[in-house]
Amino acid sequence: MKIVSSRVRYCSKLFTVTEDHAKDARGFEIKRSIVRHAGSAVMLAADERKQILLVRQYRLAVDGNLWELPAGRLDPGENPLQAAKRELVEETGYRARRWKKLISFYPSPGYVSEKMTIFLATDLTAGEAQPMDDEQIECRWFRTKEIEGMIRANRIRDSKTIIGYFVWRRWFM
Ligand SMILES: [Mg+2]
Repeated sequence: MKIVSSRVRYCSKLFTVTEDHAKDARGFEIKRSIVRHAGSAVMLAADERKQILLVRQYRLAVDGNLWELPAGRLDPGENPLQAAKRELVEETGYRARRWKKLISFYPSPGYVSEKMTIFLATDLTAGEAQPMDDEQIECRWFRTKEIEGMIRANRIRDSKTIIGYFVWRRWFM
């Protein structure tokens, strides 16, 4: 597919919305509104006892408090691993000495360009969190059994958290 036109319709601090028109060589055309996003890093921090660090915060888009893996958007010029290291300290205060990429995926490819990359963070040391002004974040360690119970009971409803947990459990634990 070749982009014929792309118009910016909306800009916010977090993303841009464009209206795009694309065509292939045979004349097949699509028009879509697309949320253009820099991408996110997601951190699955695990301690020696295989406990996982989750954060809880109010999510206005779904009007609820969600338990999630800590995560954040890539800053300009940052690669996913750099963003993961920065965001883990900002949101939780923890620093990790060992990092390993678990998986990357598109959370909503129908209309959002965002790619998420999940990293395993181990060998951790605690410190002071540095949340943004509009972030109120609660942190807690969870045992694997608790997390599975919460996913099953629909009390963890965040996709990156469900994907990250099962990828770690299946291939990296
Ligand atoms: Mg975040």
